Parts: sequence; structure tokens; C-alpha cells
Amino acid sequence: MKFATLLLSCVLASKLPAQSKPAADLIITNAKVWTVDKSHPTAQAVAVLGERIIAVGSNADVEALRGRETKVIDAGGKLLLPGFNDAHVHFVTSGTRLDQIQLGDATSVEEFARRIAERAKTTPKGQWIEGGDWDETKWTPPNLPTKDVIDSVTPDTPVFLEHHDGHMALANSIALRLAGVTAKTPDPPGGTIVRDAQGNPTGALKDAARNVVLRVIPSPSHEQRLQAMRRALESAAEFGVTSFQDMNDENSDSFADIRGYGELLQSGELTARVYVAPAISDWEKQAKVGIRHAFGSSSLRTGATKGFADGALGSGTAYFFDPYNDDPNNSGLLGEQMHPLSQMQDWMTKADAAGLQICAHAIGDRAISTVLDLYADVVKANGGVERRLRIEHAQHMAAKDFARFAQLGVIASVQPYQAIDDGRWAEARIGHDRASRTYAFRTFLSHGVHLAFGTDWPYAPFDPVLTVYAAVTRATLDGRNPNGWFPEQKLSVAEAVEAYTMGSAYAEFQEKEKGSITPGKLADMVLLSDDIFSIEPAKIRDVKVLKTIVGGRLVWDLDRKKQYSTAN
Ligand SMILES: [Zn+2]
Repeated sequence: MKFATLLLSCVLASKLPAQSKPAADLIITNAKVWTVDKSHPTAQAVAVLGERIIAVGSNADVEALRGRETKVIDAGGKLLLPGFNDAHVHFVTSGTRLDQIQLGDATSVEEFARRIAERAKTTPKGQWIEGGDWDETKWTPPNLPTKDVIDSVTPDTPVFLEHHDGHMALANSIALRLAGVTAKTPDPPGGTIVRDAQGNPTGALKDAARNVVLRVIPSPSHEQRLQAMRRALESAAEFGVTSFQDMNDENSDSFADIRGYGELLQSGELTARVYVAPAISDWEKQAKVGIRHAFGSSSLRTGATKGFADGALGSGTAYFFDPYNDDPNNSGLLGEQMHPLSQMQDWMTKADAAGLQICAHAIGDRAISTVLDLYADVVKANGGVERRLRIEHAQHMAAKDFARFAQLGVIASVQPYQAIDDGRWAEARIGHDRASRTYAFRTFLSHGVHLAFGTDWPYAPFDPVLTVYAAVTRATLDGRNPNGWFPEQKLSVAEAVEAYTMGSAYAEFQEKEKGSITPGKLADMVLLSDDIFSIEPAKIRDVKVLKTIVGGRLVWDLDRKKQYSTAN
């Protein structure tokens, strides 16, 4: 009886306000907090109530908010940052690739065939096996594989496997049959169907011939789309990416993606926040239902649009004022959506008038300049509202355009990892002068341009510490620039972290909601294995994420190698 009374009084007490401030749900103590909040840059501890931060300060400040139910994370002196916000990814494509077969490290044709046989056993009937990354130069002898190597182990399964250089693929007999490829099929323009001595296709398809089969591969089912999202969300949790901005590309159906994200949100599986940018050609579909920029909840938003002005440097399709140094007859070209230019101008002007945000892919200096011209026209046509126009990639700048970027308030949405990847060969393609304004992050900042960091995953690794490492060191992957490729463009760790958190939040109109560890903001944080501010910059790439917290909930814990849903 006495015990029951005591128990009852405890229950009552826990429902009553025992102190003036409510007890926190979570406190993180003994941390080296880097807040990215200029009014209060460092702290020891953070308190969270519900999904928001309620206090940032000393251990003692935060300890005062500890109640009986409060969960405590002792950070052990490790670095706590706001969660990373990847401003440019292709999420479903990336998630799909994670589940596809990987053959890049197969060292013999037998190993290659064995892995495909294994995969075929677990592949539902009618579903394709895709992926690959195979590299016959690792085999003895280094011969191209043929469909005969895999036909017997894939009697019911169509197979399409990409070569690691992306310019070739191997299809099996069923895949060729479904695509209608026979001995009589002519080579398509720009492609080669590899044939044996009798003229029969061997299964190897070069360049444009790949499209003959690619065309018949069904787009992902709804369930496959959800699965790809789940896989990509596992990576986001593991890498400390608490927000990402999902850009449309020609293979993606952004509206189907929004539906998928909505379902995962409802089931508690959406463990990162997403902002979706459907194609600008579809601007009317958003405008029709009254969607404006950053429409939605803190977990799932849309209202951006994505357009393409040109191609890429690697394929020689980035559009420049002057020809490529290694290809004097080629200056690249404007993308399909820019023909005629009046079409893009019309889309942009109407999308902007409807309150949608515009994100335009532009890589070559002339493509960037052309987009800035279009943006100036949009401002002129629709007046001076805060629109936060974006240029995605903004890789190779004309000297005159940095000031225009600033003047128009255009955000440079950049992917620093490309600087250490393309930096190996970019100068040979465009020469020293243009290379000096390539991935020119310092020049952008000195002109007062807003930087947002991202990766363009799956075309670069999703892991943010690699992006920070790239921006801080500019050490190209070939080891030839240990002190930095155009080192005057290096950023400090603090600048890189700010671009990846507040910068990316600003790029999606969310800088008041997230991007720094500030009372009132969403409790999205990462705890890192090492202090990236004090270790050797070269070691930043080895840093791991110990814990990822989204809206006050733990979604990744390295100790347990565990990903959590937001429902638990
Ligand atoms: Zn992209």
C-alpha cells in the first residue's frame, strides 16, 4: 500500500513542472561543439526537447535541464557539428546503384561469371541484373567478355553490365532478344555492336549501342524505388548527412520520388530531411497546385525546379567561350533544354513568377554566363523578390561573372570533390588560365557569393568528410598536388563546414530552421571521431561519423553499427 502510494506520487510528480524549464529529452555533454552560429561559435553541451535544440552552453548550463527521463550522450570530448546538408544529389539513382552487382574487383573472367551466377539465383524472375563496373584489364588474358560466359548461368534473367569506363556494356542473350538485337541489326550512329566472325552480336555494346538495350530496361517499380531510398538513407545516416537536396536528372521521376519519400515519412523510415527539385520543364505541375519554393514540412519539401544549360567537362560537352585546348574545333554545346533559348527563358520566368526556386546546371564559362543573362532577365521581368536563384556546379567561371553572381544574389551550389578528381586532367583540357577560375571557391567567397556544398552522388562519393577534405586541401587524387591544385582557392575547415551546413540550408530557404547548433533550431547534429579543426588536413578524409542525430533522434551509432528509424 505504502509502495503504491509512493509510486502514484512519483507518477504525479513527473507530470508536474518540477522546475521552471522543462526537462530535456536528450542532452549531449562533454563535447567540443562547433555551432556554426557566429554569435556563439563554441560550446560544451547541447540540450534537446522534442525535435528542437533548447540550450547550447557549458556542461553545467545543460545539466540543469536534465530530468529523470533525459537521455544522456557523453561525447567524450569529440567534435559535435550541425548535420551535413548535401545540396545536390541524385538519391534514387544512388540507392539503386548500392544494390546492384559490383564487378570492379573481379580478377578473372571465372570470378566475373561466378558472381553473376550467384546474383541470378536471388533475382526474381523477369527482373534485370544491372550494375557492373567490370574491368577486363585485370583478367588474364585481358579479353572482352562475351554473352557466352554468362548465358548458361542466366537462362531466365536479362543482364546488362556496364564497363568501368562507362562507354561499354555487356548484355546476355535474353537482354539482346528483348532489345531486338540480331545479326541483322545495324550499328547505331555513334555506337558499335561487337560481332563474332559470323557477324553475330557477342553481347558487348560500345557507346551509343548501349542505348539500344538501355531503352528496354523497365523503370524502377514503386517498391524498387522505396528500396533504393532506404539503401541511400542508410548511407546518409552513416555519413552524417541529415539533409539532402534531390536534383532531377533525365533518368528520374521526381514526382514518383516525392510520393515515395512521403510513404517513408509516414512509416518513420525517412531518417534525413529532403528537398526535391523536379524538372523545370514540369514547373507548371507544381505551380498548378500552388506549390512555391520550400513548400512542405521540415522533413519533406519541394518547390524547386532543376534545368540543364550544358553537359560536362569529361565528355567535352561543357559549353565554353573558347575551344577546348585539346580539341580546337570544340567549345562544347548548350543542352537540349536551351534550344531555343527562349524556351528556357519562358520556363524560368514563369516558374519564378509562380514562386518556385530555380536551380540550373551550368559547368562551362559560357553556359554559366548564359544562365546569368537569363537570371538577369527573370529579375527584370518579375521584380525584386528574394528568389535565391542557384547555379549547380558553377565549375569554370569567366572572370567577369563572379561579380554578377554576387549582384544577382545567385547561390553557387558546388561539389568540391570534383576539384580533386577532375583536377588530375582538367588543365590539359582547358589550359592554365581557365583552370585558375575552376572550382574557385575562395574567389566566390571573396565576392560575397553564397556557397552551398554537395557531392552530386552517385557521380562522387557521398561521404561529407571527403568533400571537406577536398575543399581544404585541393590535393588531387593522383597525388601530384599535395599542397593543393590552385592552392589560393583552398578554404579553411570552418568555411567548408559552414558551406556544408548554413550554406546549404540557405540554398533551400531553411537557414532559420537548421544549419547551426542554435536554440530553437532542429536538432540535427553529427559527432565525429576526430577534431577536423586540429588534425592534419590530409587526415580529414579518414574521419568517421560516430553518431548522427536527426530531430533529436539517434539515426546512426558507429559503436553499434546501427541505423535507427525515426519511429523508435
Ligand atoms: Zn547532378
